[in-house]
Amino acid sequence: MQDWSLRVTRLIDHAEREHGDGEVVTAWADGRLTRTNWRNVARDARKMAQALERLGINRGDRVATLAMNHEHHLIAWYGTTGMGGVLHTINPRLFDDQLDYIANHAEDRVLFYDRVFTPIVERMKPKWKTIEHYICFDPEPGQPGFREWIDSEDGNYTWIDGDEREPIGLCYTSGTTGNPKGVLYEHRSTMLHTLSQLSPDIMGISKQAIVLPIVPMFHANAWGVPWAAPAAGAKLVLSADYRPEKMCQLFRDERVTHSAGVPTVWLTMIEHVERTGDTFPDLQQVTIGGSAAPRAMIRWLRERGVRVGHAWGMTETSPIGTCGAPPQGFDEMSDDEQVEYIARQGRVPFGVELRIVDDEGNVQPRDGKSSGRLQCRGPWVIKRYFKAEQDATDEEQWFDTGDVAVLHPDGTMQITDRSKDVIKSGGEWISSIELENAAVGCGGVTEAAAIGIPHPKWDERPLLCVVRAKGSSITEGEIRDHMKKHVASWWMPDAIEFVDELPHTATGKLSKLQLRQQFKDYRFR
Ligand code: ADP
Repeated sequence: MQDWSLRVTRLIDHAEREHGDGEVVTAWADGRLTRTNWRNVARDARKMAQALERLGINRGDRVATLAMNHEHHLIAWYGTTGMGGVLHTINPRLFDDQLDYIANHAEDRVLFYDRVFTPIVERMKPKWKTIEHYICFDPEPGQPGFREWIDSEDGNYTWIDGDEREPIGLCYTSGTTGNPKGVLYEHRSTMLHTLSQLSPDIMGISKQAIVLPIVPMFHANAWGVPWAAPAAGAKLVLSADYRPEKMCQLFRDERVTHSAGVPTVWLTMIEHVERTGDTFPDLQQVTIGGSAAPRAMIRWLRERGVRVGHAWGMTETSPIGTCGAPPQGFDEMSDDEQVEYIARQGRVPFGVELRIVDDEGNVQPRDGKSSGRLQCRGPWVIKRYFKAEQDATDEEQWFDTGDVAVLHPDGTMQITDRSKDVIKSGGEWISSIELENAAVGCGGVTEAAAIGIPHPKWDERPLLCVVRAKGSSITEGEIRDHMKKHVASWWMPDAIEFVDELPHTATGKLSKLQLRQQFKDYRFR
């Protein structure tokens, strides 16, 4: 058989050749809507590769972006990786000391940024020691920027070739403990991840699909969508504006069929639709991941004819680890059974292996009852963090995810907690996620977070913080009555506190770290 290196430039070459007219639509932050296609994206990426070389960027150099989703960011992915650069997508919502740390640690040489992030750039410039060039993706009208910079090239460029194990991308985890850690993706790992992503049980990305990822390109590669869409020839809709009214408008105007995002995104969307009666008539399937999808959310979407795929993964797993798609016999299940199935985090695609182990490292059975630390391995799972001195895996390549999970006999996986978030009560574990799910299932509750509070007898007991839905006056007693139906009595929170809002991380997840900090002096009455 032939040599055909697994380099990501194959993806854009394929899209140019086979799906050249396939549309790529961008809704920009300033309200403009632009349309291009895969042929133009490929040409512009070659121009960018030339322009980077002209700047003196070399193979292996880090090229950073501080940007939302749009066509220029997409061009930068293919342009950078095509000339041998490593694209470092920076999350603009990180704190200044994290931004400082990661750009210097990555030794970024050039930064492409969105105009809205100019204040961050101005603030951080004196601290970013290695960045030599700053180029704005979307400058004020009349000002030169990315477009003019690439348009001074002719696009007559041949991608550099090389080993498929060469790096292409760098993404830092948000570092809930200690400094952020860099995950370095390779051509091969990304290509294998992409091929897996195109299987029908993952996100449903096909030639027929119109995909709008509501997950930013700096969050684990927008879950791989910008690599998979050109491979499938899907129409890609990108939005730099995450307001729910804008999303709904795009869903309608561009006839979006597939989307993906974290639960908080869907939460704001649901609120918006409930309030305004807005619709998304063509939406067929959404992938929810990044944190557990509450059952109430799954139901709400299903009632509107949208299929929900619940996915689990991490920056360290490129990010797809598992994804839920209906198994055989799904149609014969009752509604409740179907929702229960989807509420689990799904099954592994071919290429990912999972196991759970206890604290001593003993492998636990897949019996749907035993819970343990979730470990995984596979060709798109991290081996070693960028610049780290040792591997992040054990000698058999198992990577400890920091999650606690149950594996069911049918192959589905269920996250019960993050190891640092489980509530340890009387030597047993209480799943904070299950408590939150039970609370959110109660009408009148928008969001809930459970944390462990020190307890003289039990070590820790759960405190549940609840955000009431707008206009709701739901009481503690009503929430308790609802929760009792779903969780064991010894799991029930010792106290429920109502709060106006809960803290979130840079990737839109509940920040238990901040919440624990907020309630560090809390004592049960
Ligand atoms: P960060 O920690 O920076 O947010 P990631 O986005 O890589 O980084 O987060 C990965 C973690 O998110 C997982 O280890 C897991 O705890 C959580 N997670 C991801 N998907 C799900 C899901 N479907 N259900 C529950 N937790 C999830």
